[in-house]
Amino acid sequence: MSRRKKLYEGKAKVIYEGPEPGTLIAHFKDDATAFNNEKHDVLEGKGVLNNRISEYLMQQIGDIGIPTHFIKRLNMREQLIREVEIIPLEIVCRNIATGSICKRLGIKDGEKLSRPIVEYFYKDDELGDPLVAEEHIAAFNWAGPQEVEDMVSMTLRVNDFLSGLFAAVNIRLVDFKLEFGRHYEGELVRTILADEISPDSCRLWDIGSGRKLDKDRFRQNMGGVTDAYAEVARRLGVLKDQPRLKIISNGDEE
Ligand code: UDP
Repeated sequence: MSRRKKLYEGKAKVIYEGPEPGTLIAHFKDDATAFNNEKHDVLEGKGVLNNRISEYLMQQIGDIGIPTHFIKRLNMREQLIREVEIIPLEIVCRNIATGSICKRLGIKDGEKLSRPIVEYFYKDDELGDPLVAEEHIAAFNWAGPQEVEDMVSMTLRVNDFLSGLFAAVNIRLVDFKLEFGRHYEGELVRTILADEISPDSCRLWDIGSGRKLDKDRFRQNMGGVTDAYAEVARRLGVLKDQPRLKIISNGDEE
């Protein structure tokens, strides 16, 4: 492989310089981390699965007119993406209460929300990505009001679209996290969807059994993490070349 300049190494991905100006290469690693890096493991095959799943979801989202950084998949672990300036916010959208919202507000785990809730977290590992309000975003100039409006409307569209897409393969989209970036096109700056959409960044529950098909299996030491990710990939039809394994929908772990 040709020598490429590594620009940034994150927890689950490495970003390299791309072949053309304005492009980058995202390399999906097998590393899994949780609780702000306290828990770390290498899950063989996770990067390959997330590259495929994210490719598929970004393409589908692009097809409904939401701009994304995705250009094309290059190989098993890499995709070509547009260079953006990442907006330092994680936009979380929830349909069912679980995870941090339950701890924070004492909501019952698994409670269906009467409407989707969008939350903002400030991207800062040292601070543990704290929840912030629109007031903080404006006061500290992390994003402009138009950018916030665009991110929220795109997030809600992604939520509706992906909820339907996953429901069609018997998966409940419980919640997910998106990241956006500023894409400079000459004089123009556009807010586009960036990062990845995968079982690392979404909570996905089997509709029949409630079985978790996402990173919570890693966070909660449940085992079967990559099997669950492969199950998501198979149901989405992105692992057509792999032998089709039995879809588990009766609550059994095997
Ligand atoms: N999430 C993520 N990266 C983070 C924090 C959260 O992708 O750094 C995703 C997480 O997988 C879930 C959603 O955002 O789908 C909401 O996570 P939550 O706030 O409940 O945090 P957690 O309980 O994981 O700490």
